Amino acid sequence: MKKLLYQFDTDALPSVFDNVVAHDGGADQVIPYGSISPQNVGGLVEGAIFTRAPRDKKNTAIFVGGSNLLAGEALYLAVQKKFFGNFRVSMMLDSNGANTTAAACVAWMSHGRSLQGMKAVILAGTGPVGQRAAVMLAQEGVRVSITGRQLDKTQATCDAIAQRFGVTVHAIAAPDLESRAAAVRDTQIIVATGASGVVLLEEEHWKGLSGLKLVADANATPPMGIAGVDIMDKGAQRHGAAVFGAIGFGALKLALHRACIARLFEQNDLRLDANEIYAIAKTMVG
Ligand code: NAP
Repeated sequence: MKKLLYQFDTDALPSVFDNVVAHDGGADQVIPYGSISPQNVGGLVEGAIFTRAPRDKKNTAIFVGGSNLLAGEALYLAVQKKFFGNFRVSMMLDSNGANTTAAACVAWMSHGRSLQGMKAVILAGTGPVGQRAAVMLAQEGVRVSITGRQLDKTQATCDAIAQRFGVTVHAIAAPDLESRAAAVRDTQIIVATGASGVVLLEEEHWKGLSGLKLVADANATPPMGIAGVDIMDKGAQRHGAAVFGAIGFGALKLALHRACIARLFEQNDLRLDANEIYAIAKTMVG
């Protein structure tokens, strides 16, 4: 029986990246739908849950993606609301690669060390990847702050994280290089999750920080989000800190994404969101 993955994307154009990885993860056919919302998803879910016998339902799965994590979360919940009894299929949420990217990054940072009690600042943490990195670090016992250019938006992001995951994340308004440099002065972990090609921190702003232990930059498009990080870094020691670049931890992100897709087809009731994907990442890192 063919393994069918229904790719529900909240953007008008479904992600090609997610489509390719879904095939590489073991789906025989990936069917992309764009502009999917809680309002129009109902009939699609019914098609997925009513068509195959109970023992065969594991061969149908749903992937929720798109560039807007809040829209993805709403869609992910709307799909689950259509399930009842054994009329359900496995599903995964990974808007903009938020879960798999953050999980790979935090799994590498926590590999072989405890982060408990440390302080972290996630620069430009209001996007999908930053939000999920904040959750995962907070759940490792880290005191997490995220920066954004506007306090209102950044605080709203922290509030949404608290409501969804029950963890406290602090908001810092940091619209320019100087304010971001000030934000990281007394921290052990710096993570950059800004939009592609945006420089968030100069090397001089972090190279002299005595307590700094870990630095990670998710941006894979030059220039780097944190100057002085090499895109291939995978724990390299720089200025006294272990440093991770976007491709350095990106190999785990891709392997994790594929592994999650494969797992969807092992049962018909799996849910893969931040907590589950991070747990899988921890078994794969190293
Ligand atoms: P995003 O939503 O595109 O951007 C994150 C935040 O960047 C925004 O919320 C915004 O925050 C801030 N920002 C935008 N323009 C800015 C500017 N000119 N100056 C300062 N801040 C600015 O990012 P994302 O989807 O979460 O992804 C984060 C990064 O991870 C991206 O660079 C992406 O390419 C990368 N990525 C890497 C991998 C990997 O495997 N390594 C996988 C997926 C994504 P405010 O408006 O609140 O300031």
